[in-house]
Amino acid sequence: MTLPTLIRRQPLRRTAFKRNTKPLARLELSLTEAKPKGVRVRKCSNCGTSFQQQRMGQQVCGPACAQSFARRIGEQQERKADRERKQQLKTRSEHLADAQAAFNAYIRARDAHLPCISCGRYHTGAYDAGHYRSVGAQPALRFHEDNTHRQCVPCNQHKSGNAVEYRLGLIARIGAERVAFLELEHPPAKYTIEDAQRIKAEYRAKLKQLKETA
Ligand SMILES: [Zn+2]
Ligand SMILES: [Zn+2]
Repeated sequence: MTLPTLIRRQPLRRTAFKRNTKPLARLELSLTEAKPKGVRVRKCSNCGTSFQQQRMGQQVCGPACAQSFARRIGEQQERKADRERKQQLKTRSEHLADAQAAFNAYIRARDAHLPCISCGRYHTGAYDAGHYRSVGAQPALRFHEDNTHRQCVPCNQHKSGNAVEYRLGLIARIGAERVAFLELEHPPAKYTIEDAQRIKAEYRAKLKQLKETA
């Protein structure tokens, strides 16, 4: 083989080095465009800073964040498992208390714009969801919306429900006929765990819907 064929006759042409004058954001964009589909600039799921993904589905900016993110997910899963274990150990009365809390929260939100059912004050302190017929006396009305209204804590807790005034406020609000129904003797009610869970879910959903339309 003769050497001359490998020797270039002409000197190599060099192009002058050009500094990239594009602003950074523009550069980032062109990098994104050059990457395969699905790889992009996104926010780190752990620290929240923007980074350029190196592969599809990359959630964190680097190894340090990967570690803390994994730990956080692990802790979340543990807490969830804990909650589930506790749910399984709950007694019927604990489920009933949960259902009552969800129902009461809905009642307080439903009546948020109304004064106390019994004293008629726009009290600025805390409110309860007060039962007209008590849970002990008429369990069948425990989750009855006509039987439960937002009531100021002084009336509910310090005046044993302020029943006489409650009755007057109730007649004004729902009418004598519906109050008469509440005053009947109702057959005793027995709630199963499933009933309690259903009621809790129902009133959580109702509260959510109320907040969304408010
Ligand atoms: Zn990060
Ligand atoms: Zn009151």
